[in-house]
Order: sequence, then structure tokens, then C-alpha cells
Amino acid sequence: MDKRVIDRVAKFRDVGEYSFIVEYPPPLVRPALTEMDVLHRPGVELYIHIPDCPYICDFCSFYKVKQMSDEMRDKYLSAVEKELDFYLAKTDLKSRKVASVFFGGGTPTRLTPAQFSGILGVLRDKLNLADGVEITAESTPDTLTDGILAAMREAGVNRLSIGVQDFNDEVLEARKRGHTGMQAVEAFERARSHGFDSINIDLMYRLPLQTLANWEKNLEIIGRLRPEYVTLYHLRKEKRTLLGKQDESKFPTKEEAMEMYLRSLEFLVGAGYAQIAPNQFAKPGKTFVQQERKWHEDSELLGLGVSSYSWFNGRSYRNIGRFGTPHGVNEYIEAIEAGKLPIESGEKITPLEHMCHFAVFGIKTSGVNRPDGGIDKQLFLQKFGVPIEMVFSEVLEKLKKEELVTETAARIQLTIGGLIVAEEVATMFYSKSVQERLEQVGNKFGREGL
Ligand code: SF4
Repeated sequence: MDKRVIDRVAKFRDVGEYSFIVEYPPPLVRPALTEMDVLHRPGVELYIHIPDCPYICDFCSFYKVKQMSDEMRDKYLSAVEKELDFYLAKTDLKSRKVASVFFGGGTPTRLTPAQFSGILGVLRDKLNLADGVEITAESTPDTLTDGILAAMREAGVNRLSIGVQDFNDEVLEARKRGHTGMQAVEAFERARSHGFDSINIDLMYRLPLQTLANWEKNLEIIGRLRPEYVTLYHLRKEKRTLLGKQDESKFPTKEEAMEMYLRSLEFLVGAGYAQIAPNQFAKPGKTFVQQERKWHEDSELLGLGVSSYSWFNGRSYRNIGRFGTPHGVNEYIEAIEAGKLPIESGEKITPLEHMCHFAVFGIKTSGVNRPDGGIDKQLFLQKFGVPIEMVFSEVLEKLKKEELVTETAARIQLTIGGLIVAEEVATMFYSKSVQERLEQVGNKFGREGL
């Protein structure tokens, strides 16, 4: 053996200090840890997709089926229950706290009263639902009968979301909606009479026939109804939808749409609402638990049902079922019946993707009158052990230069300009790997045909 090697490395050895490494970080420098910290498992938020719709709106690119029969819905719900059982048997889901359940769609209020209470009974029996768990159901105004409203209340649904889109009859009819503006108002009032005190109304802007003047009428009606939440959706002109194929000249221009957004923001904040996300407003003190927990806190999302999305057990993935493809409910049920999870695609959440996820959704909690919104820099540091500026320095510089975000010692928040183009800003926090893959498929958001 060449003695020169020993001479070269001898300075690294202190025989008085020497130890064989078996733990990292070393025990002498580790702070105290409580039993609670060790036993803690992140909460789980539950999403259940009900793909049934009373009609097909020509702008909609979610996976859905027109008017499923009661029997088909029974079959579907039994598959959803089996999917849940699969997770209960193979993961620690049973012991994890579920703070929110969201029935999305589709139109969950197409379920019969018996089906609604059935599925909620299953969740109550099998899961560890938190006290006061938030249970939301999406709906269309025409499906909100006394029967389903009473059944939902009875079963514990405590947050109702009504997809109105617009109160103007011409706008609604052109989009093949099955209700008028007046029927939407009546449905809202009927829900109130059944005791729903947490109601969201969805409105959509940049639809054909909308003008700034008739959009104002929507705001007036919102001002009268005063729902607890208002959500504004910018039309997604998805190429595979019927509306998506129509000529641009039929739509309000992008600048007109931005004016509709800004006018709504000004109106809602003036009417006392808090902006809880770029496109969402809530009465003071009201929180949208599922969104806050999945975007801001240490919680995971488990999606059940066809085309649902999950961020669960270290994986980000979605189930079979995509708008505009032949894969849907039947394939979903077949996979479940064959004893398989009906997963279409997904990937492991690397530490970097976790940071991107935190930033993408953190920035989407910005609001003009929400001081605790935006990316919480301290939380980022606590969670990932590195300052956010180290990971996203280039993006942050660019966004600040464009005056799309502001940065303080505590937070990174969208400016008013950033709020208008919040989704585009959020994509800038996508990882390089995701951006490169999106470039390859030629789609900035990568959400076509969901
Ligand atoms: S917008 Fe709602 S009701 Fe219309 S097709 Fe889509 S999910 Fe169904």
C-alpha cells in the first residue's frame, strides 16, 4: 500500500472524535420532538366526481355523461365505494382526519335523495370525518328540488355550490343551459329556505352575448342575493368543446373580459366580500376549507370516481375518464370490478415538484384585501428547509419586474395586474421538467380535454 495515501488523508481523522455514522442529522444537534409530531399524519381532503349531467353545456370540458339512469348511478356509486374500500384496505386512510368532502361533477344533485344519503352514510361509517367536516355539493339550479335539498341537509351537506354562470336568459339559452335567470334566483332562495347558510354561486365571464352592461346585472343580482361565496370563472375556450370551435369574433375580447373581472372585483370587495383567491370571494369569516387545506396546509387530496385527481401518498395522479375520449364511466367501473385502481396517469412527487405545487397554489391564495394570502415564505422555509428565493430566484425577479407580484419579508402576493392573469403567473412556478413537457405537447396549461 502506498503510504503517501495515508499521509494525504490522515488530517481528516481525529481518533478522539471518530464515530461510525448511523443517523442523520446527528442526534446531538437535533431539537426536541413531541409524540404528537411523530404520530402526526397529514389530513386528507376527499373529492368525489359525479359525472352525471342534466344537459350538456357547449363550453364544458369536464368529463360527464348526459342523464345517467338511476340504475347506472347506483352501479357507479357502488364502484366509488369499492374504490374507497381499496384505499382503506391498502393505506392508512382510515386513521387520517378528513376535514372536507367535495362532490363535484358533473352535477352531483342529479343523485336521488336515497343515493345522496347512501353515499354520505358510507363516508360517515368508513372514514374518520372531522367534527364539523365541510361537505360541499355542486349543483345546477334546475336540479335543486325540495326533495334533493332536504336530503342533502339531512345527510349533512353544509356547503352548496350553484353553477349559474349568468342570470341573463339569452346568454344561458345560447349555451344550452336548462334554466333561466329567474329559476336560478328561485333555486337559491329554495336552498336558503332549506337552511343552507353557506352557498356559493359560480359565474362565468367571456361567454358570447355577454357585455359589460349585462354583466353589471349579474353583479346587481349577487348584491341582492348575497351568497356566502362567489366564484368567477374565465371561460376556458377548450378546442374540443362545441363552443371552443366557434370564431373568436363571437366572444368578448380579452380586454373586455378583463374589465368584467375588474368590475366584479371592485363590486364584490365594495360589497364587503373578502377576496380569498383571484377568482373567489367570501363573506368575512367564511373559509372554503377544502381549498385552503389543499392549497395552503399540510393536507393531501384523494379523488374518487371517474376522471378525479389526487395528490395522495406521495403521488400526483388522475383516474380514467377524459372529455372527448372513449374512456369513461364504463372503463372506470370495469377497472374497479377487476380489483384494480382505475388510474390513468400520474407521477411521484419529488421534493422539487412539492415546492412547485406549494408555490403554484400559494400564489393563488392572493387577494386585494387578504393580508394572509399569497406564498407564505416562512412556511415554505419550514416545510422545505430552503428559502423560496433560492428555488425561484429567476421567476421572482421576472414577476417583480413585470409588476405581477410584490414581495415583503413574509409573503409573495399578486398585484392587481397579477390577479387578472393569476393562472398565467402560477404556471411560471411550474418546474423546468413540467414546462419542457408542456412545450413538447404545445399546451401552456396542459389541461386540454379533462
Ligand atoms: S357546466 Fe356543469 S351542467 Fe354543464 S355540462 Fe358541465 S358539468 Fe354539466
